[in-house]
Amino acid sequence: MNTINFHPESGSSIWLQNLIHGMSGLTIKAKHSVFCDSSPFQKIEVFDTYSFGLVLCLGGSIVLTEADGCIYHEMISHPALFMHKNPQNVCIIGGGDGGCLKEVLIHETVKTVTIVDIDEMVTETVKRFFPALAEGFNDERTRVIFEDGYDYLEKNDQKFDLILVDSYDPNGPVQSLETDDFHRIVSLRLEEDGIAVFQTDSPTVNSNFIRKTIRGVSPYFEYYKPYLCSMYSFPEGICSFLACTRKESVLNNFEKGRYEKSANRFHYYNEEIHSGAFLLPQHIRNLLKS
Ligand code: SAM
Repeated sequence: MNTINFHPESGSSIWLQNLIHGMSGLTIKAKHSVFCDSSPFQKIEVFDTYSFGLVLCLGGSIVLTEADGCIYHEMISHPALFMHKNPQNVCIIGGGDGGCLKEVLIHETVKTVTIVDIDEMVTETVKRFFPALAEGFNDERTRVIFEDGYDYLEKNDQKFDLILVDSYDPNGPVQSLETDDFHRIVSLRLEEDGIAVFQTDSPTVNSNFIRKTIRGVSPYFEYYKPYLCSMYSFPEGICSFLACTRKESVLNNFEKGRYEKSANRFHYYNEEIHSGAFLLPQHIRNLLKS
């Protein structure tokens, strides 16, 4: 009997799509589904893929891949952590996947990290399928709160040196973080020389979001700087962030001595990326002016 040369790459017909307005984008071939369930807030899936490793999808959107998740988590965290002279108390809103938490805990100045994610099942899923990413949840400096991030900041008057908003989810479970009032609450819970960082999606594909965020933070933060990183799991390859503060000197500071002690810990971030990320192509500058 002729044996069929079954090639593993041909065995799957599952393709994950990360599209731009349904017209173009990225497709990732999956070997198989690893996990699928729904929390009270969103559908949660994990797929094993040929080229991006394990992929976490929330609400049908790709939010994390083993292949490039570290780029996102390094870039939402380290620019602000090395701008700040002595970041001790950090709050992460969202980020229940633990990736941002893991990066923040690299910094020896950090004494407490309070992570507030609305969905406990996200963290449970990451602990089960992405154990390396979930290491930070066992750190004695970590405090995990499963609650709406807006409500948490509204009710708790603790101030932080950094607030990292890792919960960009325009079609997400709760829209409380997409309101301008959320920016007011964030500013209230920041120390005078504190820094807030918001993830602002792709500045080209979704330019309205970064412009809306800039309008939302402007009344509360006199100084803010967009910055970029390249993400190959983003359909357009670029992810943006907005670093906000009340002191211009903070945004322009870089703790070189502290950086050199941990420079070998990063995959993407370094001192040149730190300054280069803030250099914007002209078309993005023009977008932000309009
Ligand atoms: N690291 C992810 C990424 O790379 O895109 C972070 C974004 S993920 C889509 C959004 C996270 O924020 C999820 O874990 C979700 O449960 C959480 N989240 C959404 N809305 C929230 C809210 N109102 N309060 C707290 N967490 C929220």
